[in-house]
Amino acid sequence: MEKVTEIFGSMVFDDRIMKARLSDKVYQSLKKTIDEGKELDISVANAVAETMKEWAVENGATHFTHWFQPLTGITAEKHESFISPAPDGRVIMEFSGKELIKGEPDASSFPSGGIRATFEARGYTMWDPTSYAFIKDNCLCIPTAFCSYGGEALDKKTPLLRSMEALNKQALRILRLFGNKDVKRVNTSVGPEQEYFLVDKEMFDKRKDLVYTGRTLFGAKPPKGQEMEDHYFGVIKPRVAAFMADLNEELWKLGILAKTEHNEVAPAQHELAPIYSTTNVATDHNQLTMEIMQKVALKHGLCCLLHEKPFAGVNGSGKHNNWSMATDTGVNLLSPGETPSENAQFLLFLCAVIKAVDDYQDLLRISVATAGNDHRLGANEAPPAVVSIFLGDELTAILEAIETDTPYKGTEKTTLKLGVDVLPKFARDTTDRNRTSPFAFTGNKFEFRMLGSSNSISCANIMLNSAVAESLKIYADRLEKAKDFETALHDMIKKTIKDHKRILFNGNGYDDKWLKEAKKRGLCNYRTTPDCMPHLLDEKNVKMLTSHNVFTETELKSRCEIMLDNYCKTVVIEANTMSDIAKKQILPAIEEYVGELSKTAKNKTKVFSGISVEYEKKTAEKLSALSAEILTKTEELDKEIASLKTVGNVIKEGYEIRDKLLPLMAELRAGADTAETLTASKYWPFPTYGDLLFGVK
Ligand code: ADP
Ligand code: MG
Repeated sequence: MEKVTEIFGSMVFDDRIMKARLSDKVYQSLKKTIDEGKELDISVANAVAETMKEWAVENGATHFTHWFQPLTGITAEKHESFISPAPDGRVIMEFSGKELIKGEPDASSFPSGGIRATFEARGYTMWDPTSYAFIKDNCLCIPTAFCSYGGEALDKKTPLLRSMEALNKQALRILRLFGNKDVKRVNTSVGPEQEYFLVDKEMFDKRKDLVYTGRTLFGAKPPKGQEMEDHYFGVIKPRVAAFMADLNEELWKLGILAKTEHNEVAPAQHELAPIYSTTNVATDHNQLTMEIMQKVALKHGLCCLLHEKPFAGVNGSGKHNNWSMATDTGVNLLSPGETPSENAQFLLFLCAVIKAVDDYQDLLRISVATAGNDHRLGANEAPPAVVSIFLGDELTAILEAIETDTPYKGTEKTTLKLGVDVLPKFARDTTDRNRTSPFAFTGNKFEFRMLGSSNSISCANIMLNSAVAESLKIYADRLEKAKDFETALHDMIKKTIKDHKRILFNGNGYDDKWLKEAKKRGLCNYRTTPDCMPHLLDEKNVKMLTSHNVFTETELKSRCEIMLDNYCKTVVIEANTMSDIAKKQILPAIEEYVGELSKTAKNKTKVFSGISVEYEKKTAEKLSALSAEILTKTEELDKEIASLKTVGNVIKEGYEIRDKLLPLMAELRAGADTAETLTASKYWPFPTYGDLLFGVK
């Protein structure tokens, strides 16, 4: 392998390349656009496009694409070659500023939730210069936002950029109140830890459920699962190690700061974490990471599963969204400071997050809602569907002392006066000790742990940024008018703690007692996607998100519909796949084995009179009963799938799926899984859990 420092970012049109290749004037002007959002002059765009093309062609690119993130959750690209005919019959390579800035993909087949009527089906893509262009598979990829002609967002990037802007605006107001004049921008940073499974490609291909749905719909428990806890941080197997080395190299080429890799709790489960970056870039990079993981796996004869719950009975995969706010001068606003003023500022930003998470618990839950993630949340392996915050004992005690005007143990019997006293030193809880909390403070950042492994991280960060922007706005409105800043600040922090302490919980989130307690505290517990998604359109949510210009009401309605539609389609595809596998693979396999048992019994009694045929008889009886049950359940399932077609409303269809279809699928599975344990291995039609989970050496 070449030197890491040389490969890193070699396929990225980054600041280094821009500085070296663009004229000083063009570079300065582009920097202004990147750092301050200034509009880009067309002459500058032309110069940038020309240089970008030259660099891309030198690095093997023949095509370019506007790379965007429609509401399908994955990325989209439509390649255009650079070629343009020359008068002498040859071609030249061309790329204009106009092509760089704006694209018009024929995008009528992307979900729009009714925003885009077919007569104006074309959407357009707009260059996002804050995320560097890169080369992937000989194609220059230009990160873009995707909108309708009416200007409505049709993607996940546009609202994310808007939410970052909203937070920036409100955070700057607060910083000014603390006398800070230098900071020009406050950005949020994210480091997403990504979990995934690796299985053998040949085995994967034999499982129609994995091929069509990304998760196993059948499968009896193997003799060994994750109970020995011998996989977490265990020695990485050679095939997996080779995959990881290759993956790191591909990610580094794209400027992705892949940093940590280790085995996870379940067998065949692994994790990759990058070093954190600006939320917008972290989001693009996470999308790329998921794509490259799948591609590199194939090169190694493996399949990378990003589904939230590929296997029943062992842990599913999530994503931890480590989030903080930082100034362009390099100050982490969630880091406790050294002086009374820094401390007060830290506590105010901390309280803004506490208030935001409590006021918009529902939006955070909605931001991670998918059919896949419904299997994880609350299944004693991932946080519950109830949102709460872990602060650790020390910080909680400090907040309590402030709330009640009582001395904190470190403050020598005097009560803590914000803006005057230094915060008592407290041991930062940087460990991952409380893994059961959905939203944990880990010293200088919050870790939001409810995301599913295949989720785009943009949705969670849109909601988080917007909700915190709203808290900060309420604070700034009040503090800007206050006569005595320090007293107003003190009162406001006290009030926040009083009003929102119900969201704080340091205990075990997996405990049933907590769910009862959470209910008493009035916290939301939306167990499934159909339960939570309609609340996206609750008045308070619409009001908050539209007031910060993150979404329009139309965009919210369309998103609600698309997310529910996606839920319904996902489960219906799973149900269809189950029915297909039951009828074409499982039932025939059982019958074949029962036939074999009958033949054996008959032959045995012919040769040896009076011999026992207990095994053949009992097994055949049990299997025949199960096969009758599987048939009945499959017929019921088919009927239910057919009846869903007439519901005609995604909210009602979602409820129907939650209440009827999913329970039927579980019943069908139970019968088939028992049959698997009674059927001789060579008759079972596809690889088992044991094969899949322990098959990669
Ligand atoms: P863990 O104990 O959860 O494994 P790590 O220290 O490995 O914690 O960090 C996990 C992720 O958090 C990494 O992606 C890391 O870059 C990111 N991270 C660290 N500091 C910050 C921060 N200030 N803001 C956002 N993300 C951060
Ligand atoms: Mg973590």
